[in-house]
Amino acid sequence: MSTSRRTLFGTAALAGAAAAAAAPAPAQAATLFNLPQVTIPVVGMAETFPVRRIYCIGRNYAAHAREMGSDPTREPPFFFQKPTDAIQFVAPGTVADHAYPTLTRNYHYEVELVAALKSGGRNISRERALEHVFGYAVGLDMTRRDLQRFMGDQKKPWEIGKSFDSSAPIGPIHPVARVGHFTKGAISLAVNGVVKQNATLEHMIWSVAEQIAQLSEAFELRAGDIIYSGTPENVGPVVKGDVLLCKIAGLPDLSVKIV
Ligand code: MN
Repeated sequence: MSTSRRTLFGTAALAGAAAAAAAPAPAQAATLFNLPQVTIPVVGMAETFPVRRIYCIGRNYAAHAREMGSDPTREPPFFFQKPTDAIQFVAPGTVADHAYPTLTRNYHYEVELVAALKSGGRNISRERALEHVFGYAVGLDMTRRDLQRFMGDQKKPWEIGKSFDSSAPIGPIHPVARVGHFTKGAISLAVNGVVKQNATLEHMIWSVAEQIAQLSEAFELRAGDIIYSGTPENVGPVVKGDVLLCKIAGLPDLSVKIV
């Protein structure tokens, strides 16, 4: 991924952004070292999408909630985050190598629709939520299932199971202007040509608009935030050599090989 291309939104240093609100912008202090801005290519645009935060919703398809041991009819949505640099961009038409991570013996796929925000705010209404969506992508919420469950069983944070390096493969972002919004349509994942996950986006318990509204009650959403919108049932393990093929109707396929 290039770090030299222009991004869609300004990415001022955080301290500078706070200072600018109070006083005329002072000269920016130099940082000790440079950190690359994580970006995702945008279809049809020269600018890339700069990633600010990665939110993920849990158990957002009823059959998947049941397979994870919960009752989907009574639970409000819940969210977790992945670090921004968990992004692994995968170009359409390629099969990217994805490294089997350390510490797990039960590494799972979760295919998900990803919504990318161009703006945000607090307490966004469900009715206006989609106005903040810049575009959509196909993503994988890769999961060390054994560690997620082990930590959950001990009532400890499950970050080690969800929020590790390269845990967020994603394809390019397609602007809403090109593809519209995604509220229905097929979503599937195959392993070595065998379909494992196969559902439609209509099976989401909480729509993308509802997720944005709910998230904005807990966090101020901003341009650059992306939301992994949950996975259907039939998640499962991979081993080295497996090839995953993710499909969402209206977007190009995303494929990785576990190495
Ligand atoms: Mn997920």
